[in-house]
Amino acid sequence: MLPRKYLFPRVIEMNYQAGRRLGVNVYLIDGGSEYVLIDVGFEDTLNDIIDLIRELDFSLSACKMLIATHADVDHVQGITRARELLRTKVAAHPNSVKPLETGDPILTFARIEAQGIDIPMPRCKVDILLNDGDVINVGEIRLEVWHTPGHTPGQLSFKLNDLLFVGDNIYKDGCVGVIDAHHGSNLADFVASLERIKNDDSQFLLPSHGPVFRRDNRVIQQAIERLTKYQHMADFGTCAVDWPLLAEWEADVIAGRLPKL
Ligand SMILES: [Zn+2]
Repeated sequence: MLPRKYLFPRVIEMNYQAGRRLGVNVYLIDGGSEYVLIDVGFEDTLNDIIDLIRELDFSLSACKMLIATHADVDHVQGITRARELLRTKVAAHPNSVKPLETGDPILTFARIEAQGIDIPMPRCKVDILLNDGDVINVGEIRLEVWHTPGHTPGQLSFKLNDLLFVGDNIYKDGCVGVIDAHHGSNLADFVASLERIKNDDSQFLLPSHGPVFRRDNRVIQQAIERLTKYQHMADFGTCAVDWPLLAEWEADVIAGRLPKL
């Protein structure tokens, strides 16, 4: 048996546990008699993760559910196979059901044709719908479900006492999950989700990528201000809500004013 490296009481993260980079953060929430996994990552690291679970002396049959924070391929490509191997259920937000159940390559980022990215995205049945305000009982503990759209429409976060699992909402350096129209990103929703995280009383944030960190509202505020600006920048295409320069230009054109150069 391998010694369990708890990051916090009840929380193991598989990259930290393995001592090497597997990919996306995979959290095992240990409720004592049962556990859940938050994301499982790519298929090619799934066997390593399942071996680790065994070596940590968790029973495979004690896995209550596999939670998809959202439907991106790097988070859930292995979830179909994990559902079979662990004989457990898959849980996700209703907005993630279509991409998960159809394996839609655009919505899941499995295919980015212009960059030569095209990887398989197996279809996965969603057994349990998770909505904002739901509570997941895992043995002795309670995980509160937050719907935090923005990066994707189905992005979930989870609160466990003073820990907040924030998915792709915010990382330690203030970066956020990719903003992409094809993927259903929404800047106004993203800002609202970040405000909610900022206003929470959790002490530690546990993101889907990179290090776990102590909540620092200055970092979150900077991200909020950045994304608020993005809403008015052409850089973000159809994710922007307006582009003030274009409105000015149109007013000039209509009024017959030539540019003052
Ligand atoms: Zn991600």
